[in-house]
Amino acid sequence: MTRPTLTRPALTRRTIMLSAATGGTALLFAPHLARGAGGAVAQPAPRPQANAGFYQFRIGEIRATVLSDGVIGGPPRIYAGDAPEAELRAALRRAFLPTDHLTLNLNTLLLETGGRRILLEAGAGSTMGNDAGRVFANLAAIGLTANDIDVVVISHTHPDHVGNLRAADGGKAFPRAVVFAPAADWDFFVRGDPDLSYMPVPEEFRRRFGAAIKRSVAPVAEAIELYEPGTEIVPGLTTIAASGHTPGMAAFLVHSGAEQLLLTADLAYHPVVNIDRPWRPGPDRDKEAALAARRRIFDRAAADEMLVLGFHYPFPGLGRMRTVDGGYAWVPANWRF
Ligand SMILES: [Zn+2]
Repeated sequence: MTRPTLTRPALTRRTIMLSAATGGTALLFAPHLARGAGGAVAQPAPRPQANAGFYQFRIGEIRATVLSDGVIGGPPRIYAGDAPEAELRAALRRAFLPTDHLTLNLNTLLLETGGRRILLEAGAGSTMGNDAGRVFANLAAIGLTANDIDVVVISHTHPDHVGNLRAADGGKAFPRAVVFAPAADWDFFVRGDPDLSYMPVPEEFRRRFGAAIKRSVAPVAEAIELYEPGTEIVPGLTTIAASGHTPGMAAFLVHSGAEQLLLTADLAYHPVVNIDRPWRPGPDRDKEAALAARRRIFDRAAADEMLVLGFHYPFPGLGRMRTVDGGYAWVPANWRF
């Protein structure tokens, strides 16, 4: 791989604009910070403008932060393609979820290790509705900008994982980042003209979906680093073959010392329909391969009681799996401050 440089170039006009657009939280607190000790007057704490969109923890020596890019969603049927209708509605009701719309989170993960900042998944940006594209605001909330990201690793090239690679002006949204994508997905979705008729969505949606992928990755195409699942991207970050959902999808294993974290990419969309129930995601291209990958990787996660991060699970998406009655159960992790 190209070794990313650690020097920080001067702020570009674009990143300054980004900071200005996303720095609301810092500005809110400025009057507090400016008040000198002598003239201090008790003030009520300013109200945050929204709930927290980042969650920090450690994996051994690696500093990890879940950075939300917001949410996407759609009819539950899309995400549970083979569920009997009555059972699907009952499962959603039992989980106190609406039966006409399933919300999916977008949990990107920032790793800080070896002097580098590595973002796992770019997020959807504006490719799949208006409730995403928040990763930049959440970077700002922890004192960083897109210019601080050295590496971006994509599990598969669906729009909700690559959308943020393209800035509003058509340039690179992460100006300095080396971007890694699975080779088989690049061949299928980017170099090829894919037949997406396997996706259980209207033809117009498929057309926009395919175009959004090509448009999102265009700014990084020339310098893209293609990987074969199974390879190590940087020390402490290994990719695991998980093809089926797409031709090249990978899961990620982050490890440091005795600690590890498994990222399951889109092996499951939502624990209620794809883990606690065995239903298959409708957009899986090769349904048998996807099922085999899901079982192989979920069995390992359950056997080793691994900490798991689900890209689309309820924020921050961390938990563990156990095997029950031939299937699986999702156990969310306790929140830690
Ligand atoms: Zn996805």
